[in-house]
Amino acid sequence: MGKENFVEQIADINQDFPQWYTDVVIKTGLVDYGPVKGTMVIRPYGYAIWENIQKELDKRFKRTGHKNAYFPLLIPMNFFTKEAEHVEGFAPEVAVVTHAGGEELAEPLAIRPTSETIFGSMYSKWIQSYRDLPVLINQWANVMRWEKTTRPFLRTSEFLWQEGHTAHATEKEALKETKKMLNVYKEFAENCLAIPVITGRKTEKEKFAGAVATFGMEAMMKDGKSLQAGTSHYLGQNFAKAFDIKFLDKDGVQKYVYTSSWGVSTRLIGALIMAHGDERGLILPPVVAPVQVVIVPIAQKKPGVLEECKKIKRALKNAKVRVELDDTDSTPGWKYNEWEMKGVPLRIELGPRDIEAGKALIFRRDTQEKVEYSLDNLAKSVKQLLKTVQQDMLKSARVRRDNRITYAQDIQDILYGVENGKFVKAGWCGCRECEDRVKAETAATARVYAEGEQSETCAVCGRKAEHTVIFARAY
Ligand code: ZN
Repeated sequence: MGKENFVEQIADINQDFPQWYTDVVIKTGLVDYGPVKGTMVIRPYGYAIWENIQKELDKRFKRTGHKNAYFPLLIPMNFFTKEAEHVEGFAPEVAVVTHAGGEELAEPLAIRPTSETIFGSMYSKWIQSYRDLPVLINQWANVMRWEKTTRPFLRTSEFLWQEGHTAHATEKEALKETKKMLNVYKEFAENCLAIPVITGRKTEKEKFAGAVATFGMEAMMKDGKSLQAGTSHYLGQNFAKAFDIKFLDKDGVQKYVYTSSWGVSTRLIGALIMAHGDERGLILPPVVAPVQVVIVPIAQKKPGVLEECKKIKRALKNAKVRVELDDTDSTPGWKYNEWEMKGVPLRIELGPRDIEAGKALIFRRDTQEKVEYSLDNLAKSVKQLLKTVQQDMLKSARVRRDNRITYAQDIQDILYGVENGKFVKAGWCGCRECEDRVKAETAATARVYAEGEQSETCAVCGRKAEHTVIFARAY
């Protein structure tokens, strides 16, 4: 078996997208399956992407006034019963610890599926006066939701995420926070992940269990399906009342606070893979790519070649570029395949003739173009090119998505659209019955309201439309 056949081991992206996804996540070393069904091991190459995501998001959270903290993994089971919708929504997914220390526990403990309840119980202790508000806390943590069918990054029983939990004196302020963080996510998704997203409010059916309103951001994957890439919830006073989070206001009156919560998870890595990847494997945007540039020496045993490669590596490192020099004894062709599959944005090819001419060839993973660059000031050229790649990836993802958004007048149109891998905008009367019918007949769900768009009639029942909704099949 020749190593040159490496790429052929990935299923054809156009023939079998799900298998392509599985092949890519496993063969590029992003994850492996854990011994317990439904769990994943995030391997160093995948975890490095998560670290870059964390770094970028954390910077944005701090900039908007949030502080990090850490809350316990275990939550008293009775906490979930305090908010009726919340318990109903999460009950089927909660893993419960019944035994510990060799005996049965007097009260079972839940492994957090999310932390609104434990934040609520602590906030009721910490918040006394209007002077204590707002409280703006984020935590980076793992959570557990027992899922029946699982796929690495997209749906696993345990995953990593961040959850912001804030408390405010007024409804207006809490709503403002909910929308502010949604916009932070959107800016991050577009500028760091190069994924254009559509943000908007979710329907009652699709909202978070316990929220007054949920806002989501939806990203289009290469198969035309939607992936919910992040959510921000306005919780009103639901959790404040359940956990008795009250404060003495300036007017001397005891009032309940208003809360918000918002989160993104390791699902974002799944989004990256499916929004950008191609028949050769991953294509990673430079901002989050663990390796931004790989140097592949040509005829590396010839005198001077490796030395020059090392010199370039040092210069790039000094310029804060994440760079690898592949000086293993595999053939250049094999190295090309491997690093292309791993989605490294740029590859520098350097051989004796290039060195003599004072030039290097740079290959762009996103466009597959090869361009010659002078070895003088190469680090500067590379930095500029990484910026260009980042911007171009967003642009082309946006064009791809915009070409696949369509409008529907009736349910047949919705079905036709989603069968052809499109996001379908359609009028909706606002009733649950019509929303359920769309799901039953097309396997598409209401993703978010299309903000600022007004439809005349409901595509399902023909009555007056209350909203324009984006329907899509979703992960
Ligand atoms: Zn209707």
